[in-house]
Amino acid sequence: MAKYEPKEVDITICVDDTLCKGVESWAWYGLQPVNKLLKPGGTLIVTSLESPETIIGMAHRKDEPYKLAILKGTPSFSGLWVFKDDHTDVRILGAIAKLLPELFSLKAVQDVIVKEWKDPVKAESAARSHERITTSTVKPNQGNPETPYKFEFPKWHEMGEGIAIPSIPAGHSYEDPNTHAMGGFRPDRNPTFKKFTTRTMRPVVNFDTCIKCTLCWLHCPDSCFDVTPDNLYDANMQACCGCGVCEAVCPVKECVTMVNEAEFSDNSSQWESWKKDKEAYKVWLQDKIKGHGERSHGFRYRGQYEEQVPEMLQIAREG
Ligand code: SF4
Ligand code: SF4
Repeated sequence: MAKYEPKEVDITICVDDTLCKGVESWAWYGLQPVNKLLKPGGTLIVTSLESPETIIGMAHRKDEPYKLAILKGTPSFSGLWVFKDDHTDVRILGAIAKLLPELFSLKAVQDVIVKEWKDPVKAESAARSHERITTSTVKPNQGNPETPYKFEFPKWHEMGEGIAIPSIPAGHSYEDPNTHAMGGFRPDRNPTFKKFTTRTMRPVVNFDTCIKCTLCWLHCPDSCFDVTPDNLYDANMQACCGCGVCEAVCPVKECVTMVNEAEFSDNSSQWESWKKDKEAYKVWLQDKIKGHGERSHGFRYRGQYEEQVPEMLQIAREG
């Protein structure tokens, strides 16, 4: 039976491995663990090219053991746009048929695929993931030990006539870590709503080549660039949702490069790291952006669902 907002589930499906850090599904929920609703012994299915160790380290700890199943693949259906067909949907169904056979069989999945899509290649993708999916057990002492944001729903008898939401103060200047000069402008931000949790990629900025054209600051849909005391533009990693617009508008080659979120473990300021040690930052930046094509953000997959993504079909075939 389908349920809206169930209290617990046998399987959680995460088609974007970066969300394993936790996700802010609604503005008043705060960051919530992606495995929060799993029953003891339940399975978290994640599409990822990362190792189980990396994914386990990202997800919050649970009091009871659960299972992790990794379906090889890149983020799919993530962000606000529709990706082309990469068979993730049918591969997930094939995996569920293996992990929870009492729910439905592989044959039932394949029959539906052939009936609905009339595509035997998709039915084959489901069979391959059914054959290859494996699980590892995640113990209570494994994973991110941070305590996630907690809240309680108001009771019906506690509901007031209205809710007042305090506005966010305008912002303030801040200190240059080297010179201690005050300057720039950092907007204040909602302390609960963490937009970064929806991000699959983040911008990495080369402050040495930035020409201070302001285009990233002007075009960022979330106003998340802090103007630094030396008039550079630092994408605030608590506020950035990873849309990739700054990379698209920056006129300087490789000055802004979108990099997979799974490669980072915190939201610290890139500009502060650059100010503290420019040579070390250059090495860090080159390491992060290596292998990323210019304008490498997921926008390249925007298009019709009917059009299939060749590299993902390759992964579906080869596992
Ligand atoms: S990716 Fe760039 S434009 Fe998009 S929210 Fe982040 S900083 Fe702003
Ligand atoms: S768009 Fe690029 S060059 Fe222009 S201010 Fe932003 S980072 Fe610098």
